[in-house]
Amino acid sequence: MAAYGMPSSAGAFEPDAPAGGDRRALQRLLDELGRLPGIGPKSAQRIAYYLLESDAERSRRLATAILDVKKQVHFCPVCFSYATGSTCDVCADSSRDQTMICVVSEPRDVSAVERTGTYHGLYHVLGGVISPMDKIGPDQLHVKELLGRLAVEEVQEVILATNTDVEGEATATYLSRIIKPLGVRVTRFAVGMSVGGEVELADELSLGRAIEDRREM
Ligand SMILES: [Zn+2]
Repeated sequence: MAAYGMPSSAGAFEPDAPAGGDRRALQRLLDELGRLPGIGPKSAQRIAYYLLESDAERSRRLATAILDVKKQVHFCPVCFSYATGSTCDVCADSSRDQTMICVVSEPRDVSAVERTGTYHGLYHVLGGVISPMDKIGPDQLHVKELLGRLAVEEVQEVILATNTDVEGEATATYLSRIIKPLGVRVTRFAVGMSVGGEVELADELSLGRAIEDRREM
């Protein structure tokens, strides 16, 4: 059992618990916070003590926001991005350019491309990339659904915006090979995206330019 005040992955630090109270409750919070991405033991401790020291209303709002997002946000049945309504905001917006689909690997990549403000078409989220090492092939991704959309929607261009690492490139090559015979223009963003670059982490200017300067595949 982990000692009090020491998240399982933590280095040593001196417990300095408030006197009395349920130490296990605090330890549980430290453990849960420590499991979040990017939160090390020190940050977990800082957040936990911040919550302990601020009023109960702040913690209640945080807890409610977490529960609400899990209850209300689901995958859009059309593009597999996140949605709160029957479809996501982009799919529901008829003013978006219906002739373009930007294909990304994760829903967070949609947010990254949206932030550039340069793209006004539709999206399709694959839900990952082809990765033989992880036993992920086209059947594990939303490829079938993408082909279904190309068959019925008035799409003229598919922009492949998977990351520029090995898996992202392999996925783009695979998709290009099966989409081009359908008579749809296939492009890939390249300029401005460094090799191995992640869409999510690219700055808005570079990503926006990468989309504008896309090349034929
Ligand atoms: Zn959607």
